[in-house]
Amino acid sequence: MSTLPIRLFGDPILNEVTKEITDIDHRVAALADLMIETMYEAPGAGLAANQVGVQRRMFVYDKGDGPVVVVNPEIKESDGEWAFEEGCLSVPGLSWEIVRPNRIHLVGFDLDGNEISIEADEYEGRIFQHEMDHLNGILLVERLDEDQKKAAKKTLRKRAVSLSANDPDGLHSLFGG
Ligand code: ZN
Repeated sequence: MSTLPIRLFGDPILNEVTKEITDIDHRVAALADLMIETMYEAPGAGLAANQVGVQRRMFVYDKGDGPVVVVNPEIKESDGEWAFEEGCLSVPGLSWEIVRPNRIHLVGFDLDGNEISIEADEYEGRIFQHEMDHLNGILLVERLDEDQKKAAKKTLRKRAVSLSANDPDGLHSLFGG
């Protein structure tokens, strides 16, 4: 089994907006396979291409009944509200209750280039929104309310100190001041 390293909070690639996939070819299919294996090994419910360092619009997920690949996904509609405890493979070990729209209409393409249209809610709808955020360069820490944000920054700062004890500049750039 081969997997790819997952990029972690602080890696600037996670803050970049990904680009459309123009040709759904064998390379895209091979990447999707690697992403699925990486997601299962982590383990996680979803994984976006930029989390493994590829700046393209694709994510994989499994809501409990097998892996699904979505190329060039787009949220067409969303409504309602749902609170759910959400974590992220790029911010390991932490989770927060986040309120987001409940019902999501997602469109995109499968690996054969066929159009996909999925109406989802609750858990599956949440995965879609989380992965779409990744593809748009947004990490879940940016979805927290002010109090959650303060606590999160404290925790992440402590971690950064232990990761880069001799690198105060690294710490500074990690939080943008
Ligand atoms: Zn994530």
